[in-house]
Amino acid sequence: MRSVFFPRLVNGPFGDPALHIRLAHRGEALLFDCGDLRRLTIREMLKIRDVFISHAHIDHLVGFDALLRTFLYQMGPLRVYGPPGIADRIAGRLHGYTWNLIEGYPLVLTVREWGASGGREVTFRAANAFRPGEEKTWENRAGLLRETDYYRVRAVPLDHGDIVSLAFILEEPLHVAIHKDALIRHGYSPGPWLTHFKDQVRRGLPAATPVTVPLERGDETVLALSALQERIAHLERGMKISYVTDAAPTEENLDKIVTLAAGSHLLVIEATFAHRDLDRARQRNHLTAHLAGRLARESGAARLLVFHHSPRYQDHPGQLAAEALEAFSGKGKGDE
Ligand SMILES: [Zn+2]
Ligand SMILES: [Zn+2]
Repeated sequence: MRSVFFPRLVNGPFGDPALHIRLAHRGEALLFDCGDLRRLTIREMLKIRDVFISHAHIDHLVGFDALLRTFLYQMGPLRVYGPPGIADRIAGRLHGYTWNLIEGYPLVLTVREWGASGGREVTFRAANAFRPGEEKTWENRAGLLRETDYYRVRAVPLDHGDIVSLAFILEEPLHVAIHKDALIRHGYSPGPWLTHFKDQVRRGLPAATPVTVPLERGDETVLALSALQERIAHLERGMKISYVTDAAPTEENLDKIVTLAAGSHLLVIEATFAHRDLDRARQRNHLTAHLAGRLARESGAARLLVFHHSPRYQDHPGQLAAEALEAFSGKGKGDE
Protein backbone atom coordinates (compact mmCIF):
# COMPACT_ATOMS: atom_id res chain seq x y z
CA MET A 1 0.00 0.00 0.00
CA ARG A 2 1.28 3.47 -0.83
CA SER A 3 1.46 5.48 2.35
CA VAL A 4 -0.94 8.37 2.82
CA PHE A 5 0.33 9.29 6.31
CA PHE A 6 3.97 10.29 6.87
CA PRO A 7 4.73 10.19 10.62
CA ARG A 8 7.80 11.67 12.30
CA LEU A 9 8.70 11.87 15.97
CA VAL A 10 9.83 15.49 16.17
CA ASN A 11 12.20 14.94 19.10
CA GLY A 12 13.28 11.33 18.67
CA PRO A 13 12.64 8.67 21.32
CA PHE A 14 14.15 10.55 24.28
CA GLY A 15 12.64 14.00 23.66
CA ASP A 16 9.23 15.46 24.46
CA PRO A 17 6.35 13.66 22.74
CA ALA A 18 5.26 15.26 19.46
CA LEU A 19 4.30 13.10 16.48
CA HIS A 20 3.99 15.10 13.27
CA ILE A 21 2.00 13.30 10.56
CA ARG A 22 1.98 14.81 7.10
CA LEU A 23 -1.00 13.87 4.92
CA ALA A 24 0.03 13.01 1.35
CA HIS A 25 -1.10 15.49 -1.34
CA ARG A 26 -3.09 17.63 1.12
CA GLY A 27 -0.65 20.33 2.19
CA GLU A 28 -1.86 19.48 5.68
CA ALA A 29 -0.48 17.80 8.80
CA LEU A 30 -1.71 16.51 12.16
CA LEU A 31 0.14 16.75 15.46
CA PHE A 32 -0.20 14.18 18.22
CA ASP A 33 0.97 15.79 21.45
CA CYS A 34 2.58 19.15 21.59
CA GLY A 35 5.95 18.76 23.35
CA ASP A 36 8.95 20.87 22.34
CA LEU A 37 8.36 21.92 18.70
CA ARG A 38 11.58 23.85 18.06
CA ARG A 39 12.79 21.21 15.61
CA LEU A 40 9.82 21.81 13.28
CA THR A 41 10.35 24.34 10.53
CA ILE A 42 7.83 27.18 10.18
CA ARG A 43 6.60 25.49 6.99
CA GLU A 44 5.99 22.22 8.81
CA MET A 45 4.21 24.00 11.66
CA LEU A 46 1.95 25.95 9.33
CA LYS A 47 0.69 22.72 7.75
CA ILE A 48 -0.76 21.65 11.12
CA ARG A 49 -4.53 22.12 11.38
CA ASP A 50 -5.45 19.65 14.11
CA VAL A 51 -3.60 18.99 17.37
CA PHE A 52 -4.46 15.97 19.51
CA ILE A 53 -3.25 16.20 23.12
CA SER A 54 -3.14 12.99 25.18
CA HIS A 55 -3.09 14.88 28.52
CA ALA A 56 -1.79 18.14 29.90
CA HIS A 57 1.48 17.07 31.56
CA ILE A 58 4.09 19.66 30.61
CA ASP A 59 6.11 17.37 28.31
CA HIS A 60 3.00 16.97 26.13
CA LEU A 61 1.89 20.60 26.00
CA VAL A 62 4.96 22.82 26.37
CA GLY A 63 5.11 23.47 22.61
CA PHE A 64 1.62 24.98 22.42
CA ASP A 65 2.84 28.58 22.79
CA ALA A 66 5.32 28.12 19.93
CA LEU A 67 2.54 26.78 17.73
CA LEU A 68 0.25 29.68 18.63
CA ARG A 69 3.08 32.17 17.98
CA THR A 70 3.51 30.73 14.48
CA PHE A 71 -0.23 30.70 13.79
CA LEU A 72 -1.03 34.15 15.12
CA TYR A 73 -1.06 35.85 11.70
CA GLN A 74 -2.77 32.98 9.91
CA MET A 75 -6.30 32.65 8.62
CA GLY A 76 -6.50 29.43 10.63
CA PRO A 77 -8.46 27.65 11.88
CA LEU A 78 -6.49 25.69 14.45
CA ARG A 79 -8.30 22.86 16.24
CA VAL A 80 -7.15 21.28 19.50
CA TYR A 81 -8.56 18.08 21.03
CA GLY A 82 -7.78 16.65 24.45
CA PRO A 83 -8.98 15.07 27.66
CA PRO A 84 -11.51 16.58 30.10
CA GLY A 85 -10.23 19.94 31.33
CA ILE A 86 -8.09 20.73 28.27
CA ALA A 87 -10.17 23.81 27.36
CA ASP A 88 -9.40 25.37 30.76
CA ARG A 89 -5.70 24.48 30.39
CA ILE A 90 -5.56 26.20 26.99
CA ALA A 91 -7.56 29.16 28.35
CA GLY A 92 -4.97 29.43 31.11
CA ARG A 93 -2.11 29.46 28.62
CA LEU A 94 -3.84 32.13 26.52
CA HIS A 95 -4.59 34.19 29.61
CA GLY A 96 -0.85 34.35 30.38
CA TYR A 97 -0.19 36.94 27.63
CA THR A 98 -1.28 40.50 26.84
CA TRP A 99 -3.46 40.68 23.69
CA ASN A 100 -4.39 44.32 23.13
CA LEU A 101 -3.19 44.69 19.52
CA ILE A 102 -4.66 41.72 17.69
CA GLU A 103 -8.29 42.79 17.13
CA GLY A 104 -7.90 42.45 13.35
CA TYR A 105 -6.33 39.00 13.41
CA PRO A 106 -8.49 36.25 11.89
CA LEU A 107 -7.19 33.26 13.85
CA VAL A 108 -9.90 31.10 15.42
CA LEU A 109 -8.89 28.38 17.85
CA THR A 110 -11.38 25.69 18.87
CA VAL A 111 -10.77 23.28 21.71
CA ARG A 112 -12.78 20.08 21.93
CA GLU A 113 -12.75 18.06 25.14
CA TRP A 114 -13.21 14.31 25.10
CA GLY A 115 -15.83 13.05 27.56
CA ALA A 116 -17.38 9.59 28.02
CA SER A 117 -20.69 10.71 26.54
CA GLY A 118 -19.55 14.01 25.09
CA GLY A 119 -17.83 17.15 26.19
CA ARG A 120 -17.32 20.88 25.76
CA GLU A 121 -16.12 22.64 22.67
CA VAL A 122 -14.88 26.16 23.33
CA THR A 123 -13.91 28.74 20.70
CA PHE A 124 -11.17 31.33 21.29
CA ARG A 125 -10.90 34.17 18.75
CA ALA A 126 -7.83 36.37 18.31
CA ALA A 127 -10.22 39.21 17.47
CA ASN A 128 -11.70 38.79 20.94
CA ALA A 129 -8.28 38.75 22.68
CA PHE A 130 -8.56 34.95 23.01
CA ARG A 131 -11.17 35.19 25.75
CA PRO A 132 -13.21 31.97 25.98
CA GLY A 133 -16.07 32.52 23.50
CA GLU A 134 -18.90 30.37 22.15
CA GLU A 135 -19.32 27.07 23.88
CA LYS A 136 -21.01 24.02 22.40
CA THR A 137 -21.56 20.49 23.54
CA TRP A 138 -19.94 17.76 21.54
CA GLU A 139 -21.57 14.36 21.37
CA ASN A 140 -19.23 11.39 21.69
CA ARG A 141 -19.97 8.83 18.96
CA ALA A 142 -17.51 5.93 19.36
CA GLY A 143 -14.80 8.36 20.41
CA LEU A 144 -14.76 10.06 17.00
CA LEU A 145 -13.05 13.44 17.43
CA ARG A 146 -12.58 14.45 13.81
CA GLU A 147 -13.80 13.09 10.49
CA THR A 148 -13.05 14.19 6.92
CA ASP A 149 -13.32 12.38 3.57
CA TYR A 150 -9.71 11.27 3.84
CA TYR A 151 -9.02 10.64 7.51
CA ARG A 152 -10.67 10.27 10.89
CA VAL A 153 -9.31 10.30 14.44
CA ARG A 154 -10.81 8.44 17.38
CA ALA A 155 -9.78 8.65 21.03
CA VAL A 156 -9.76 5.98 23.73
CA PRO A 157 -9.23 6.97 27.38
CA LEU A 158 -6.42 5.22 29.24
CA ASP A 159 -5.65 5.38 32.92
CA HIS A 160 -2.50 7.42 33.74
CA GLY A 161 -2.60 7.44 37.53
CA ASP A 162 -5.55 9.55 38.59
CA ILE A 163 -5.96 11.27 35.22
CA VAL A 164 -7.01 10.27 31.70
CA SER A 165 -4.44 9.99 28.93
CA LEU A 166 -6.07 9.71 25.52
CA ALA A 167 -4.80 7.21 22.97
CA PHE A 168 -5.54 8.17 19.37
CA ILE A 169 -6.35 6.11 16.29
CA LEU A 170 -5.77 7.77 12.92
CA GLU A 171 -7.48 5.98 10.04
CA GLU A 172 -7.96 6.44 6.35
CA PRO A 173 -11.64 5.44 5.86
CA LEU A 174 -10.93 3.53 2.63
CA HIS A 175 -7.76 3.29 0.58
CA VAL A 176 -8.12 3.98 -3.15
CA ALA A 177 -5.04 2.44 -4.75
CA ILE A 178 -4.14 3.81 -8.19
CA HIS A 179 -2.58 1.49 -10.78
CA LYS A 180 0.32 3.52 -12.17
CA ASP A 181 0.70 1.15 -15.12
CA ALA A 182 -2.96 1.68 -16.07
CA LEU A 183 -2.45 5.46 -16.03
CA ILE A 184 0.46 5.06 -18.45
CA ARG A 185 -1.42 2.59 -20.65
CA HIS A 186 -4.38 4.95 -21.04
CA GLY A 187 -2.20 8.04 -21.44
CA TYR A 188 -3.65 9.75 -18.32
CA SER A 189 -1.41 12.41 -16.84
CA PRO A 190 -0.97 12.05 -13.02
CA GLY A 191 -1.72 15.18 -10.97
CA PRO A 192 -3.92 16.70 -8.26
CA TRP A 193 -7.06 15.41 -10.05
CA LEU A 194 -6.22 11.96 -8.64
CA THR A 195 -6.64 13.21 -5.06
CA HIS A 196 -10.04 14.65 -6.01
CA PHE A 197 -10.99 11.41 -7.79
CA LYS A 198 -10.11 9.37 -4.67
CA ASP A 199 -12.33 11.64 -2.55
CA GLN A 200 -15.21 11.16 -5.01
CA VAL A 201 -14.81 7.37 -4.81
CA ARG A 202 -14.66 7.45 -1.00
CA ARG A 203 -17.75 9.63 -0.86
CA GLY A 204 -19.59 7.04 -2.95
CA LEU A 205 -20.76 9.53 -5.61
CA PRO A 206 -23.09 8.16 -8.35
CA ALA A 207 -21.44 5.90 -10.94
CA ALA A 208 -22.18 8.34 -13.78
CA THR A 209 -20.50 11.34 -12.11
CA PRO A 210 -18.29 12.89 -14.82
CA VAL A 211 -14.56 13.14 -14.10
CA THR A 212 -12.24 15.25 -16.23
CA VAL A 213 -8.92 13.50 -16.81
CA PRO A 214 -5.89 15.35 -18.25
CA LEU A 215 -4.08 13.40 -20.96
CA GLU A 216 -0.32 13.09 -21.51
CA ARG A 217 -0.71 14.44 -25.04
CA GLY A 218 -1.99 17.75 -23.65
CA ASP A 219 -5.79 17.76 -23.94
CA GLU A 220 -8.29 16.08 -21.62
CA THR A 221 -11.09 13.54 -21.63
CA VAL A 222 -14.22 13.04 -19.52
CA LEU A 223 -15.12 9.64 -18.06
CA ALA A 224 -17.83 8.33 -15.76
CA LEU A 225 -16.56 7.83 -12.21
CA SER A 226 -17.26 4.07 -12.15
CA ALA A 227 -15.68 3.45 -15.56
CA LEU A 228 -12.57 5.36 -14.51
CA GLN A 229 -12.44 3.50 -11.20
CA GLU A 230 -12.58 0.17 -13.02
CA ARG A 231 -9.73 1.21 -15.28
CA ILE A 232 -7.23 2.69 -12.86
CA ALA A 233 -8.04 1.86 -9.23
CA HIS A 234 -8.97 -0.72 -6.66
CA LEU A 235 -10.16 -0.39 -3.07
CA GLU A 236 -8.34 -1.59 0.05
CA ARG A 237 -8.76 -1.25 3.78
CA GLY A 238 -7.46 2.19 4.78
CA MET A 239 -4.21 2.85 6.56
CA LYS A 240 -4.27 2.90 10.38
CA ILE A 241 -1.82 4.47 12.83
CA SER A 242 -2.33 4.12 16.59
CA TYR A 243 -0.68 6.46 19.09
CA VAL A 244 -0.44 5.35 22.72
CA THR A 245 1.39 7.17 25.49
CA ASP A 246 1.47 7.66 29.26
CA ALA A 247 -0.56 4.59 30.19
CA ALA A 248 -0.27 2.80 33.52
CA PRO A 249 0.65 -0.89 33.08
CA THR A 250 -2.72 -2.13 34.39
CA GLU A 251 -4.52 -5.14 32.94
CA GLU A 252 -7.43 -2.93 31.93
CA ASN A 253 -5.15 -0.54 30.00
CA LEU A 254 -3.29 -3.41 28.32
CA ASP A 255 -6.57 -4.96 27.12
CA LYS A 256 -7.80 -1.62 25.84
CA ILE A 257 -4.55 -1.00 23.93
CA VAL A 258 -4.66 -4.42 22.19
CA THR A 259 -8.21 -3.65 21.07
CA LEU A 260 -7.65 -0.06 19.94
CA ALA A 261 -4.44 -0.89 18.07
CA ALA A 262 -5.81 -4.03 16.37
CA GLY A 263 -4.53 -4.35 12.81
CA SER A 264 -2.54 -1.08 12.86
CA HIS A 265 -0.12 -0.52 10.02
CA LEU A 266 1.94 1.33 12.61
CA LEU A 267 1.72 1.43 16.40
CA VAL A 268 3.52 4.40 17.97
CA ILE A 269 3.74 3.58 21.65
CA GLU A 270 5.61 4.73 24.72
CA ALA A 271 8.45 2.56 26.04
CA THR A 272 9.40 4.62 29.06
CA PHE A 273 11.13 2.07 31.26
CA ALA A 274 13.00 -1.20 30.86
CA HIS A 275 10.96 -4.16 32.05
CA ARG A 276 13.44 -4.86 34.88
CA ASP A 277 12.18 -1.52 36.27
CA LEU A 278 8.51 -2.57 36.13
CA ASP A 279 7.95 -1.47 39.74
CA ARG A 280 9.05 2.03 38.86
CA ALA A 281 6.89 1.93 35.72
CA ARG A 282 3.89 1.03 37.92
CA GLN A 283 4.67 3.90 40.33
CA ARG A 284 4.99 6.41 37.48
CA ASN A 285 2.02 5.03 35.49
CA HIS A 286 4.01 4.29 32.35
CA LEU A 287 4.58 1.25 30.12
CA THR A 288 7.81 -0.70 29.81
CA ALA A 289 9.55 -1.43 26.50
CA HIS A 290 8.74 -5.13 26.81
CA LEU A 291 5.04 -4.36 27.30
CA ALA A 292 5.08 -1.99 24.30
CA GLY A 293 6.48 -4.78 22.10
CA ARG A 294 4.08 -7.36 23.51
CA LEU A 295 1.09 -5.08 22.87
CA ALA A 296 2.24 -4.48 19.30
CA ARG A 297 2.44 -8.24 18.75
CA GLU A 298 -0.90 -9.00 20.39
CA SER A 299 -2.68 -6.28 18.44
CA GLY A 300 -1.28 -7.59 15.16
CA ALA A 301 0.42 -4.30 14.32
CA ALA A 302 2.58 -4.44 11.19
CA ARG A 303 5.19 -2.01 12.46
CA LEU A 304 6.24 -0.61 15.83
CA LEU A 305 7.78 2.74 16.76
CA VAL A 306 8.67 3.35 20.42
CA PHE A 307 9.29 6.68 22.13
CA HIS A 308 9.01 8.59 25.45
CA HIS A 309 12.15 6.90 26.82
CA SER A 310 13.15 7.92 30.32
CA PRO A 311 16.48 9.84 30.36
CA ARG A 312 17.84 7.23 32.80
CA TYR A 313 18.56 4.97 29.78
CA GLN A 314 20.44 7.58 27.77
CA ASP A 315 23.79 5.86 28.30
CA HIS A 316 22.46 2.88 26.33
CA PRO A 317 20.17 4.63 23.86
CA GLY A 318 19.20 1.56 21.81
CA GLN A 319 18.35 -0.62 24.80
CA LEU A 320 14.62 0.12 25.07
CA ALA A 321 13.95 -0.17 21.35
CA ALA A 322 15.81 -3.52 21.33
CA GLU A 323 13.77 -4.80 24.30
CA ALA A 324 10.52 -3.74 22.60
CA LEU A 325 11.50 -5.34 19.28
CA GLU A 326 12.39 -8.58 21.01
CA ALA A 327 8.92 -8.76 22.57
CA PHE A 328 7.33 -7.70 19.28
CA SER A 329 8.97 -10.65 17.55
CA GLY A 330 7.67 -13.02 20.26
CA LYS A 331 10.93 -13.47 22.14
CA GLY A 332 12.09 -11.94 25.41
CA LYS A 333 10.84 -12.25 28.95
CA GLY A 334 7.84 -14.39 29.70
CA ASP A 335 4.51 -12.60 29.84
CA GLU A 336 3.36 -11.68 33.25
ZN1 LIG B 1 4.65 12.06 29.35
ZN1 LIG C 1 2.07 12.02 31.72
